[in-house]
Amino acid sequence: MASILLLIAICCTGCGGTVEAEQEQAAYICNQTKQVFAASEVQNSNVNPKTGKSTLVRGMYCVKCDRWHPGPPKEAMANRAVQPTCPIHKTPLKSVGPIPLAAAE
Ligand SMILES: [Zn+2]
Repeated sequence: MASILLLIAICCTGCGGTVEAEQEQAAYICNQTKQVFAASEVQNSNVNPKTGKSTLVRGMYCVKCDRWHPGPPKEAMANRAVQPTCPIHKTPLKSVGPIPLAAAE
């Protein structure tokens, strides 16, 4: 019986790979297309990998909106005293969140 449970445990650990894509991570959002890119997809800190234009800004995620908002400029981000908030909910935004499926294309 114990060995069966062990096998199930190993299986579940092995299945963890599919969950990985849904892990929260940092993202960038394009000011023009509003498309969201996972930070790991972006080679050049502000260049949209699809259009090649320098239109990306750091994305900030609102849990209530369930969407990404363009983050403040780098200078403001460097100033930790400034906490970016959602323009709609006025709640603090997160620097990580779920990446939309379209970004994984
Ligand atoms: Zn919001």
